Amino acid sequence: MNRRLDLLGLACGMALAVVAAGCQTQAPSTRKPGDVVDPCADRLHGICGRLLLYHSLNGKLPADLADLKTVDSAPMPPLSCPASGRPYVYNREGLPVSGRSGRLVLYDPAPTHSGMRWGILADVAVEKPPLTAGVILLSERPVFSGSKPSPGPGQP
Ligand SMILES: [Zn+2]
Repeated sequence: MNRRLDLLGLACGMALAVVAAGCQTQAPSTRKPGDVVDPCADRLHGICGRLLLYHSLNGKLPADLADLKTVDSAPMPPLSCPASGRPYVYNREGLPVSGRSGRLVLYDPAPTHSGMRWGILADVAVEKPPLTAGVILLSERPVFSGSKPSPGPGQP
């Protein structure tokens, strides 16, 4: 069980590295390749591994993030941003992100990180497993400029 989660976490981490590198070319920031990973990204990375595991076991994303507790006995990462202290916004359907495949399923409730948000981009449109997902850093424009995201979970 734990080995399986580790493998999923590793896959998620590789996606993080690839996507983060892609972000740097598009959005100039103070981040450099050798920088320590942001605590928020690290936290989302842990949640991302659980999302992938839940999806591989159930064939779908959970209705509620609390359901992620059922896939592993290890303690759950907190479901809130370490910088703002506010809970992450979960959207099972996912928000479209222009220029990227996949949808944003979990993200910072506010642009707390130098005007940007961390989030999990998942390939939810693909019906068959395995789900692919990665942690990305997003500027406000591509996702959040048109419509304000819901401040909390509970939206169908
Ligand atoms: Zn955050």
